[in-house]
Amino acid sequence: MPGKPTELRVTFTFDEQIAALEAERERLLRFPEEEFIAIIREVGFSCDCCGRCCTREFNDHVFLLGEDTDTVRSLLPDAVIPRPRSTPAIRRGRFYVSGYALRTKPDGSCIFLEDGRCSIYDRRFAICRVYPPYMLHREADETGAVDWRQIGGLNQHGSYNNPIDDAECVRIARETRAYEAAFLEQEIRFRQALRDLFDREGLRYVRRTYDLLMRDFRKGAEVEVRVFHRGGRFEPHRVTRDVYGQ
Ligand code: SF4
Ligand code: SF4
Repeated sequence: MPGKPTELRVTFTFDEQIAALEAERERLLRFPEEEFIAIIREVGFSCDCCGRCCTREFNDHVFLLGEDTDTVRSLLPDAVIPRPRSTPAIRRGRFYVSGYALRTKPDGSCIFLEDGRCSIYDRRFAICRVYPPYMLHREADETGAVDWRQIGGLNQHGSYNNPIDDAECVRIARETRAYEAAFLEQEIRFRQALRDLFDREGLRYVRRTYDLLMRDFRKGAEVEVRVFHRGGRFEPHRVTRDVYGQ
């Protein structure tokens, strides 16, 4: 599964980041359903259940929405880790991330993957349901224009140009749009909470602190990460690169 692509540059203020995410959510919700259905039909992706997308080799990490994090914790409390993408670090030297990801096994496969099959298939998470089966997500191109684009790895798995019936196309379009909207909502709420925290505690982003912290982390040092979770709170963790299989 992919790490989600919408990482806004940390040089933007939180208000600018929030405004950009809200504008993208507006475009997403306004996107004509018929047009989206036509794209899904044209791609015609069919999964052959090879299980490769459930490995780190194929996908960086499986990002979890807040409700999915709660589900994972009810199944296997240790199966969540801070997502391996941060927004700013601050002068006190810690990272903040917008949610959790699924832990992987030492071989890089998802902790729920057994004998090439998902062991919790009926309860798998939002991102596992919409990607990669449909192979479409919202992403900016090199000019910054955001549109529906096919997820990378084209022609490395599954097959394309298969017929998909109308009802299935509608279901895919609605489920995918709902996931993308929920993802944007989580990113917006994360930045709002971070903005409020920074204002309240007089904190600020310091690029040099971020770079030094990243350098230490890459060398194997333990770093502090605060993970945004439901209810607008940040949960404290200490992690090393080992947790990401690096
Ligand atoms: S939860 Fe299941 S579908 Fe999702 S990445 Fe893990 S094994 Fe794959
Ligand atoms: S979506 Fe692709 S990588 Fe994942 S199981 Fe299906 S064919 Fe394999």
